[in-house]
Amino acid sequence: MKLFAIFGDPVSHSRSPLMHNSVFKNLNYKACYTRVHLRDGSKLKETFFALALSGANVTVPHKEAAYKACDEVRGFAKKVGVVNTLINENGKLIGYNTDADGFMFAIKEFGEVKNILVLGAGGTAKALCARFVQDGIKVSVLNRSEDKLLYFKELGCESFTWNDFKISKYDLVVNTTSAGLKDEELPAPLELIKEILDNSSFAADAIYGKMTPFLKMAKEKNITYKDGADMLLGQGVLANELFVNHELKTGDIKLHMSKSFEI
Ligand code: NDP
Repeated sequence: MKLFAIFGDPVSHSRSPLMHNSVFKNLNYKACYTRVHLRDGSKLKETFFALALSGANVTVPHKEAAYKACDEVRGFAKKVGVVNTLINENGKLIGYNTDADGFMFAIKEFGEVKNILVLGAGGTAKALCARFVQDGIKVSVLNRSEDKLLYFKELGCESFTWNDFKISKYDLVVNTTSAGLKDEELPAPLELIKEILDNSSFAADAIYGKMTPFLKMAKEKNITYKDGADMLLGQGVLANELFVNHELKTGDIKLHMSKSFEI
């Protein structure tokens, strides 16, 4: 029996255990997935091996710590320095990032998106922005504080704090902050969010399973919006493929993972 887990702080909200266990149980794959509340990201690697995990997901705020903890980082994660999926490969910790591809899957229904405003500058924002830039999308970033913005400037994004923000028109605005996750906060001051939504065609939130104040406001303004559930599904399918070393069919993984959203 293989053991998998998700590390985060907070982590009690995570639907990942339900999603992955639904796949393992229904496809008779001998594995179990649990959650680990980890406060200190520097303890990630030792905790992973102390629990004898075969693999794990990493959520807020440890994705950059996860990157540092890896013996080897592969694919897109290497480019962005952010890891959300860990695999135990013969006692070595291998890191991947499945968030960005998961998000691209989620916004397909918005059609062609050429201009995106990203709220937040944490690990998720890094992965998404690098992916958007790779796809030729114009990206602006707005964050509460200045110190994380350098990465985005170097990537070629316009980047602002709340104090120096200059508004444009956006096809899509995405909340990647944790504002609204465990509180009722907006990702930026009220007047800024109102102005942003008045200039955006679509709104998306990385947070899932609740109507955040940001999405409530998008709804009030009749903007087409979506929460982070499809992003979660997309990144989860890709992570599960890595967990089972591609032994299960992608379509079957997706089917049973989607069913867990009905629980
Ligand atoms: P990080 O901790 O790396 O980054 C958090 C960001 O949010 C920082 O830019 C921080 O700003 C900002 N922030 C935090 N609190 C507030 C606030 N009250 N007001 C404004 N800005 C705030 O987090 P992650 O990038 O890992 O995750 C961000 C969110 O995305 C989480 O809610 C997570 O659950 C969600 N997520 C969902 C996924 C899905 O599959 N649906 C996948 C990945 C993430 P500052 O720099 O000023 O501190």
